[in-house]
Amino acid sequence: MHLSYIDKVSIKVILMTVISIFGLVYFFYDGGTIIQLIVIRIIAVFFTSAHAIGSHRWLCHYSFKPSTFGKYFMLTGLVITGYGRPLHLAVAHGMHHKHSDTLLDPHSPKYHSFLNLWLGRYTMHDQYVIPTKFFREKEAIFVNKHYWGLFFLFNIIVAFIDLKTALVLSPINFLYSWTINSVINYHGHKQGDIIAPNNLNQTLAYLTLGEGLQETHHANPSLYDFSSKDRIDPGKKFIDLFLISKT
Ligand SMILES: [Zn+2]
Ligand SMILES: [Zn+2]
Repeated sequence: MHLSYIDKVSIKVILMTVISIFGLVYFFYDGGTIIQLIVIRIIAVFFTSAHAIGSHRWLCHYSFKPSTFGKYFMLTGLVITGYGRPLHLAVAHGMHHKHSDTLLDPHSPKYHSFLNLWLGRYTMHDQYVIPTKFFREKEAIFVNKHYWGLFFLFNIIVAFIDLKTALVLSPINFLYSWTINSVINYHGHKQGDIIAPNNLNQTLAYLTLGEGLQETHHANPSLYDFSSKDRIDPGKKFIDLFLISKT
């Protein structure tokens, strides 16, 4: 049986969902406490946030210059979250900006239901453009080349230390981030509109780390600040605090 790229993505989304549910049950079965789970998840959310900013505002748009710490923080977040090779995201995202809400947009809600987006069943075609800037970042090229090796190495090491922690780390990071990302792609671009108005309320703006503020982002993709006069962008604060060198 031949599986297409999008079939593999859908299988991964379903598999990560199943492992997340099983992992949560196993965590408590194996003696984990709710406090331990909360501590693990708070730390994990920091890495998911670094992944969200790193895969978009850094590796798709180069909208800020990260510190060395910031770079490794984001790359670690990319590996832990399990999205797959960052270059794939950069290529698809380039098409999303170039052809927003047309047939060439990989994930316009004009042509996809929320479930379709969540299952990763994006529009595929052969007119993608390779983002040349990506190849200037040698650490990102390394992570891109060895992505799945690094992902499994990280998970095997954590599983050897504590299996129940491994089961609630990467799978839930993926599921959480992927679901938020589907919300951004669906609600950030209102169905039928070319670019949505600021239709995310501030709570959703916080939940998506500002990534849902698509109107301001599309107006000027080279800015790392997505805030507008009535929306705060927590992603900008995250970048200023953790990812940019202060010197
Ligand atoms: Zn967009
Ligand atoms: Zn973008």
